[in-house]
Amino acid sequence: MLKWKRLTDNFITIDVARESNGEAFYWTTLYYYKGLVVDTGCPHTAEEAADFLEKMELDVKAVLLSHFHEDHCGGAYSFRKRFSVNVFAPSKSIKIIRNPPEIPQYRQVVWGQPLPVEVKPLKERMKFGELMVTTIDTPGHSFDHVSFLIDDKLFIGDMVTNQNPIIIMKQEDYIDLIDSLRTVLSLEFEAAYGGHGIWDRDSIIRTLANILKLREKVSTLATEGLSAEQIVEKVLSNVPKKVLQIEEQSRFEWSRKNLVESLLGHMHDGN
Ligand SMILES: [Zn+2]
Repeated sequence: MLKWKRLTDNFITIDVARESNGEAFYWTTLYYYKGLVVDTGCPHTAEEAADFLEKMELDVKAVLLSHFHEDHCGGAYSFRKRFSVNVFAPSKSIKIIRNPPEIPQYRQVVWGQPLPVEVKPLKERMKFGELMVTTIDTPGHSFDHVSFLIDDKLFIGDMVTNQNPIIIMKQEDYIDLIDSLRTVLSLEFEAAYGGHGIWDRDSIIRTLANILKLREKVSTLATEGLSAEQIVEKVLSNVPKKVLQIEEQSRFEWSRKNLVESLLGHMHDGN
């Protein structure tokens, strides 16, 4: 499934999701901005998204990837082939994107197994015609995560997906994410365009404040001797049913406990 919206002349948001019985599994947004495609959606929607760009007769000059997750880099293989363009990825995850490991079954169903794709490393500053792209290291959601500042548009991948995070993936490092949120807040930007939402500065400020507040609660309880499971029970037990379903279906690759442990620094510096 694909939905799109023209924000300005040269700026289009493209939402893609695998379809099942007319329902979307999980929407992800990619962007077309002045010849650049930022992120690419998942393998299941790769051809559909490439068809769309072709049908709209958009001039695609290059593809930029914010991180290696399959719902962001999964279309890169098709885009590279279809438009004969370079794909640029964070240098830390070049090897993974060139040779992706097999992903868990539930992710294969929702997003699909990414194909190997030849990518070039992103540089801190890159010029495409008159357009200057600044790449900013914003680890946290993933170890390789970067954001892009192009004109006054900030593209933030999956840095913010929910202003009140409840559940996160196992490898997410929230100590790094807190720093990354502070980094982007030090920049001037009109809005932040993510894979799962468009955010204004106040939303990012609120997200950071919510995470810091939760970290304080979690740390206090840990100091009192509570385990991660006990902290989840105390602080994150009143959650929508959907959260519990995601935990089960992902075999706890996504969980509230991951969030608690990440806030306690367990994912940071290999603790
Ligand atoms: Zn991601």
